[in-house]
Amino acid sequence: MRFPPRPKDEATRQRMQGQARTDTQPELVVRGIVRETGNAYRTHVRDLPGRPDLANKKRRWALFVHGCYWHRHEGCPRATLPKHNRGWWISKFEANVSRDARKEQMIRNAGFRVLVVWECETLDERALSRHLEEWFRECRAEGSLPRQGRTLAPAASAASRQPDSPLRRARARIR
Ligand SMILES: [Zn+2]
Repeated sequence: MRFPPRPKDEATRQRMQGQARTDTQPELVVRGIVRETGNAYRTHVRDLPGRPDLANKKRRWALFVHGCYWHRHEGCPRATLPKHNRGWWISKFEANVSRDARKEQMIRNAGFRVLVVWECETLDERALSRHLEEWFRECRAEGSLPRQGRTLAPAASAASRQPDSPLRRARARIR
C-alpha cells in the first residue's frame, strides 16, 4: 500500500520517529513483569511468524506490546486522530491494524497462545502483573493438552473481524 508524502509538522514527525524505536518503555515494563513471573523469553523473535515482541518457543506463548496510538487501541483516549490529513492517517492506521491482525494470526496458526498488552495497561504494573500471571497459568494448563491451532482455517481478514471499528466509522464520516 502506498501513502502520500509524510505530513510535515514537527509533532507528527517526532511521533513517527517514536514508532521506529525498538525497546519502548512499555516493552521494558512488560519484560520486567514477565521476568518476575519466572517465565523465560526472547525478545523481537525474528525466527517466529509475526515476529512477536516477547516469546518462548518451547512453551509456545507469544506477547505483542502495542502502543495505543500507532496500533489503535480501541476506545483508548491515546488513540487520537490527527486533525490534518485525516484521510492519510486513517489509511495508515488501517494498514497498521491489519498488519497486526495478520501477524497475530500467523503466530496463532503456528500453535502459540498470543496475548496483546497495550501501552496504557503498563501504567498499572500491579494489575498487569496479575493479568499476566493468570495468563501464564492458563498457558501452562493448556500446555498439557494436545496442541491446537495448526488446523485452524485461515484468518478472516481484519476488516471482516472488525466491521464497526471507530476507525471505520471515522473514515465513513470524512467521505
Ligand atoms: Zn490504550
